[in-house]
Amino acid sequence: MEKDIKFEEIPAKKVSIKKVQEKLTKFTNDLENAKDFKTAYKAVRDLENYMDKFENNATVISIRYTLNSNDKEIAKLQDQMDEISPLVSNLINKFNKVLVKHPCRKELEEKLTPYYFQMIDNSLKSFDEKIIPELIEINKLSSQYDKVLGSAEIPFRGEIYNISQMGKFTKSKDRGERREASIATDKWFGDHEKEIGDIYGKLVELRDTAAKKLGFKNFIELGYLSLGRVDYDARMVANYRKQIADEVVPVCQKLYKDQAARIGIPFNKMYSYDYNLSFLSGNPTPIGDPDYLVKMGRKMYGDMSKETGDFFQFMMDRHLLDLVARPGKQPGGYMTFLPVQKYPFIFSNFNGTDGDVNVLTHEFGHAFQGYLSRNIKPGDFRSPTLESCEIHSMSMEFFAWPWMDLFFGKDDEKYRYSHLTDAIEFLPYGITIDEFQHWVYEHPHATHEERCAAYQEIERRYTPHKKYDPEMKTMGHGGWWMRQHHIFGTPFYYIDYTLAQVCAFQFLVEMTRNRERAWKKYVKLCKTGGKYPFVTLLAKNHLRNPFEDGNIHKVMVPLRKILKSFDLTKIK
Ligand SMILES: [Zn+2]
Repeated sequence: MEKDIKFEEIPAKKVSIKKVQEKLTKFTNDLENAKDFKTAYKAVRDLENYMDKFENNATVISIRYTLNSNDKEIAKLQDQMDEISPLVSNLINKFNKVLVKHPCRKELEEKLTPYYFQMIDNSLKSFDEKIIPELIEINKLSSQYDKVLGSAEIPFRGEIYNISQMGKFTKSKDRGERREASIATDKWFGDHEKEIGDIYGKLVELRDTAAKKLGFKNFIELGYLSLGRVDYDARMVANYRKQIADEVVPVCQKLYKDQAARIGIPFNKMYSYDYNLSFLSGNPTPIGDPDYLVKMGRKMYGDMSKETGDFFQFMMDRHLLDLVARPGKQPGGYMTFLPVQKYPFIFSNFNGTDGDVNVLTHEFGHAFQGYLSRNIKPGDFRSPTLESCEIHSMSMEFFAWPWMDLFFGKDDEKYRYSHLTDAIEFLPYGITIDEFQHWVYEHPHATHEERCAAYQEIERRYTPHKKYDPEMKTMGHGGWWMRQHHIFGTPFYYIDYTLAQVCAFQFLVEMTRNRERAWKKYVKLCKTGGKYPFVTLLAKNHLRNPFEDGNIHKVMVPLRKILKSFDLTKIK
């Protein structure tokens, strides 16, 4: 049975752009000539089936490429894909233009749902041939940013490290080491500030131009549309940020004071790097090697439920996991989906930190949803927009709590406490990054210095505890945003993590009351896939809408109780 082949048996094929063009043009003509619903609907299905195959191949190529970037054959296929994907978008755009004006639209809308058409209207509003030059330039500049940061060489104590390698020194138990490492990283950003600031300046200019070409006042609305946000807008997000400021910022200030006491540094003398250390005894780390962690993962998902046990076995049997770091493999971690075989795939770089356990919970949460929604039709409804997707993953992190002793041994409670406090403390940072971007695109011609000043003002408002060592001059003048790659590559995306976190908290609260009910609700949410936009999806699944006044308060009251239930004398 073809469906059960293993990942390595799926071929990566070279694509002929001429053939793709012919096919997509044929479907467009078929649709245009269709006189009745049945023929029109067939053209829609033909395009969908063809695009599933195209995307499947593109995904296989991209997975293989990230697994081994030294493979010249795959690198060639990847380059070709990068080149042809804007052309494919353009051809689909042409098909969609015919579809929305089709005489049978009413019947098609009944069959495919109004939301399906809303998504298409949305993509038509946010894309047009005339902005292709800007899009190409934007892609180039954001890869340039990745390259500049990826190739960073930071001298530290006689060795050279990249930015992610510096991470572990900035979290050291030894304050001198934390400080020195943070100053070295800060200095690298200072040395590259002009280069990074220029890249961002150009990106903002290009996005502003593209937005104006499409008839928008500035990039904000276009940015929202590009992320598929059809049932909320910037005004609602601003109201959400206000609720986080009122309800969460004060809780975080209390958490930071507790942390100061725990690690023995006076609160008013703590610098940014001190907040990296949660416990004097060090942050919790996993107790076994990658093989051990995977074995425990299997045990955990087997115990958790029938669905998760089956799912874990499904992934193992078909070789849909590539978890361990090795030379040639790209950094980072992700979950992706192969629409033809209906396989989720998980990529990660296990390196012996608590991040490994996070892959087993967070990325597996994404994959579990992909697995449960794999048969949804049309394929566009398999996966929701990004803020909804993060609910699946972040909630799974909490559903995994009872098994954390398998991964962290006697430090399991320490892990749960820092997981929860990190998640709460993330919210003020997330709204800082979001508000900054709104400011940037409202002031597209601002200078780099003005951007840094704006960032600093917002940062002081939402994270008033955060002070920088006088020697960290770059972060000290509002330069932190240069480290947040989402700002460069995927504008306005960052708030999604915070929105999802607020929903995942609701699952945590519910599972402390009635685990079985919470689990059923979670499985239902995963099975709903992307049939609805964010706000509607929440309503259908009885989750509180974070935009609505009072709802952040309602989420935070029981969460504060859970925080209080930790015995801090036992976790040091
Ligand atoms: Zn995620």
